Amino acid sequence: MDKPYDFLIVGAGLFGAVFAREMSLRGKRCLVIDRRKHVGGNLYCEQIEGINVHKYGPHIFHTNDKNIWDFVNSLVRFNHFVYSPLAAYQDKLYNLPFNMNTFYQIWHSRSPQHVKIIIQNQINESGICIPKNLEEQAIKMVGSQIYEMFIKGYTEKQWGRKAKDLPSSIIKRIPVRYTFDNRYFNDTYQGIPIGGYNKLIDALLEKIEVRTKVDFFSDRIFFKEIADIIVFTGQLDEFYDYRYGNLEYRSLRFEEKILDRKYFQDVAVVNYPEISIPYTRIVEHKYFEFGNQPRTVITKEYPQEWLPGTEAYYPINDLKNNLILKKYAQLAKEEEKVIFGGRLAEYKYYDMHQVIASALAKSRVLNK
Ligand code: FAD
Repeated sequence: MDKPYDFLIVGAGLFGAVFAREMSLRGKRCLVIDRRKHVGGNLYCEQIEGINVHKYGPHIFHTNDKNIWDFVNSLVRFNHFVYSPLAAYQDKLYNLPFNMNTFYQIWHSRSPQHVKIIIQNQINESGICIPKNLEEQAIKMVGSQIYEMFIKGYTEKQWGRKAKDLPSSIIKRIPVRYTFDNRYFNDTYQGIPIGGYNKLIDALLEKIEVRTKVDFFSDRIFFKEIADIIVFTGQLDEFYDYRYGNLEYRSLRFEEKILDRKYFQDVAVVNYPEISIPYTRIVEHKYFEFGNQPRTVITKEYPQEWLPGTEAYYPINDLKNNLILKKYAQLAKEEEKVIFGGRLAEYKYYDMHQVIASALAKSRVLNK
């Protein structure tokens, strides 16, 4: 007998929403479920004081892929927001990413050649040849002073471990520019959906049956029976009942405040790299959409240990977890009726444009 749905999509985040849209455009019957009370996954925004507050951390869309940019712009118009965060260090503000503005603020030098010599001297003095850990890797790329001011404390707070105990692979590249250019991302296309990310998700899920506050694991036998194929975007280890152990994550705690003033920090994001300050950044949400509201909303972001049952944010792709991942990935490969996609099911950090590209690619394979 025919099942009621062709696809059951577990997770109404960006991967699930893009996949569902592609399939429903091809006439497939899709049901999307999400255990949260809202759709959109980590892109979800809540309107507070007329401001779209990014509830799961600030999200800036950026890509070099014109097809992906055209795809999202066909669903909702994007504004021209350009991400240029600041770093507050010992009560002074510095531009990020590291560029001639930052170097001028530290060394009062206007000359890229001079700055390159300062940095190279510090690298030489460190005596590091083959970096053995994150600390050495960072010093080898940007010298000791920038590392001590902006990278060490931030990284140790973010990962909850000493930089010396973290693998060098975490920072393969630190963006450094020898021009006066504060744009964080090099990508050609960037912006924020006008009206917030919920508009993007709502456009993707238009005409698709969606049920929130429904956990796949509350009745997985039932859910397996109602659709030919399951598209699973939740945690891979949970899907297999943790039989090889937990995949570990780093988590975040958000402390949100409404302030009875128009502006707080005059920019969307200020990083706090000092170890003595427990949060890593403060986000002032109105800047993403050039808001002019009388009050403002800020969020302090505190990295924290992840415990099973709490929100999983950043996969910890170290040796131990990658070995566990390999075993789960093998099981996943053998599934004929389950497609795994997105940041949790692949245990991989994905930016939004990458998750869209992945969902489009996986949906198109099915159509061949
Ligand atoms: P998710 O958004 O996590 O969606 C998965 C969904 O599945 C969730 O809604 C979850 O509730 C649901 N689910 C899980 N298990 C079940 C279950 N058993 N039953 C039912 N539902 C279930 N990317 C950028 O491009 N730019 C940025 O600036 C940026 N900033 C970020 C900041 C932070 C703090 C973080 C953590 C990520 C950021 N990202 C950014 C990445 C972006 O969030 C991801 O690319 C995107 O959210 C991935 O979408 P997804 O669908 O894979 O996962």
